[in-house]
Parts: sequence; structure tokens; C-alpha cells
Amino acid sequence: MNASNMITFQNITKTYNKHSTALENVSFKINPKEFVSIVGRSGSGKSTIVKLITAEEKPTNGRIIFDSYEVNKLRFSQLPKYRRLIGTIFQDFRLLNGKTVFENIAFALEVEGRPQKEINEFVPQILNLVGLDNKMQSFPYELSGGEKQRVAIARAMINQPEVIVADEPTGNLDPFNTWEIIKLLMKLNEMGSIIILATHNKEIINTLGHRVITLNNGKIIRDEEHGRFILTN
Ligand code: ADP
Ligand code: MG
Repeated sequence: MNASNMITFQNITKTYNKHSTALENVSFKINPKEFVSIVGRSGSGKSTIVKLITAEEKPTNGRIIFDSYEVNKLRFSQLPKYRRLIGTIFQDFRLLNGKTVFENIAFALEVEGRPQKEINEFVPQILNLVGLDNKMQSFPYELSGGEKQRVAIARAMINQPEVIVADEPTGNLDPFNTWEIIKLLMKLNEMGSIIILATHNKEIINTLGHRVITLNNGKIIRDEEHGRFILTN
């Protein structure tokens, strides 16, 4: 195990404004190769944790350590390099609708300045990994929700990130496609990525049997190795 690939939240408080504390004194550590679900009702602070990991937001108090980075102290100029450690997946897929599946993945590599030859080799490989090598020339509107999310996952994987962060990735999917996406995340986890899954889907959590961090009103109320989704009032 490589102990440097680890995320630590130390006494994190996040206040967006005077009236709402999104997270209050939240602490946890995520180890290499873990699959961690973050659960809780709407408004409990799940997306805030995701945005703090991706450095889209800064904590009001506390420290976030990821690998060799102190995330709360990152300067603007350091963000691109830092964010290459992380692949992010959203509920609404966020694909480029005017580009084909191939071009959506290729674009993400072009932004990184990768040579065309490498792109032509790598894109089919990564699409094969998510089972979409037969849809390379399709546009997003020609795909099902589950297929769109698999494209988004392929795109999230291109920099071989240490961590995949998924914020409600199955929120727009039917139960069949939900399981296809969860199985794919499990496969990526088995290949070595840390997976952080924010969700309010009880069925997923209760079937997965992985670690579950439960939030309520911005506080961790449970952090269990083989967690279940239980919400109390
Ligand atoms: P979840 O993802 O669990 O639904 P969020 O992290 O999105 O929860 O939100 C946690 C709390 O922070 C909520 O009360 C929400 O209204 C508030 N919040 C989230 N983002 C903002 C923002 N940009 N400005 C003000 N308040 C916010
Ligand atoms: Mg959310």
C-alpha cells in the first residue's frame, strides 16, 4: 500500500454564508483502494465534500490533505496539476453535445496536450474498458443515459486519476443502468482507483457492503466499514 495516496479531512467546517453551515467539524481519512460512499438526505453536505476534494470550494476552517497537497492552501496556478489526480462524474453527465463519443474523450486529451497518435490509440482502449467501443462515432443524443454516464466515466479515467469522485452519478438513471454504472465503478476500484460515491440511493449502499460515511445536517453521524443506509430523525 502506498500511504501517500490518501485523503484526509481534518476538522473541516464549511460555511457558505452566515445562515448556513454546510459542514461542521468533519474529519475522516480515505485510504488507498477504498470504495467509500457518502450518504445523507438532500442538503446534508455530500456535494460540499465533493467540491472541497476537487478544490472547487475552500473550507472555512480545517485542513484537507491529498497526496502531497494541502488542498485548502492550493494556489490558482496549482489547480490544473492537482485536479489531474481526480476524475469527477456528475449526475447530468456534462458531455459536449456537439462532439462524438470519440471526440468527447479525445478533447479531454487534447487539452492535456497529448500527441494525436497517442489519442488515436488511447481513446478506443478506454472506450473498450467501459464497453462503448461500438459507439465511438455516436453523438450524446444518440445514447441512453447509462451510455452517456459510461462516456463520462471514460473521460474521468483518461489521466489515470488516483481517485474517482462521483456525485449522484445514477440520479438520472433507471435501476438497470444504475447497476451497470455501479458495477463499472467497482471494476475501476478493483483496478486500483479510490472511489468516492455521493448518493442518496439506499438500495445501492445496502447492496455494496463497502464503507459508508453518513451525514446529517453537515455532521458525520456514522462512519462504518460495512455500512448500511439508515437515516434517523
Ligand atoms: P447535498 O449534496 O447533500 O444535497 P450540499 O453540500 O449541496 O448537500 O449542501 C449542503 C448545504 O449547503 C445545504 O444547506 C445547501 O443549501 C448549502 N449550500 C450548498 N451550496 C451552497 C452555495 N453555493 N451557497 C450557499 N449555500 C449552499
Ligand atoms: Mg448534492
